[in-house]
Amino acid sequence: MFSGLWELSHCDPIFFFVDGGDVSRILALHMARIYDSAKSTLALRHRKRFLLAQLKLHPDSMRASLVERFSRCGKANCHCHHGGTKHGPFYYLTQCLAVGKVNKFLLKAARQQQAARRAIEHYRQLQEQLEELSQINAELLRREESLGDD
Ligand SMILES: [Zn+2]
Repeated sequence: MFSGLWELSHCDPIFFFVDGGDVSRILALHMARIYDSAKSTLALRHRKRFLLAQLKLHPDSMRASLVERFSRCGKANCHCHHGGTKHGPFYYLTQCLAVGKVNKFLLKAARQQQAARRAIEHYRQLQEQLEELSQINAELLRREESLGDD
């Protein structure tokens, strides 16, 4: 019951809401940062070369978010139904696949949660480097420069 595609009302990398009801917290998400484009063309080219030298694809990279969630159980007489604290935290790996489509499942073991955190961080770093490279290339084009070093 914890896996598969879940229909969500909203699936945006920045403002991402899990299916309402219980308290959810986003622990990791992806945002596009805007990089300084006021540098000289030479400085942009240096930065580009540096980025390309730094680029590293970690085999365990993963585009996903880790969602921490507290919830009520099925027992009507449990404290969680009578003003007591909810159960949790439970950690869900979530992946936005398309608008309104999310792959989501529970990560039960701490070792899985750690692996997910690392994989998400590797992806985030790579994405950040690619984003900066992309913005540099756009700025070079805007300046009517060639994209290469020539
Ligand atoms: Zn309970």
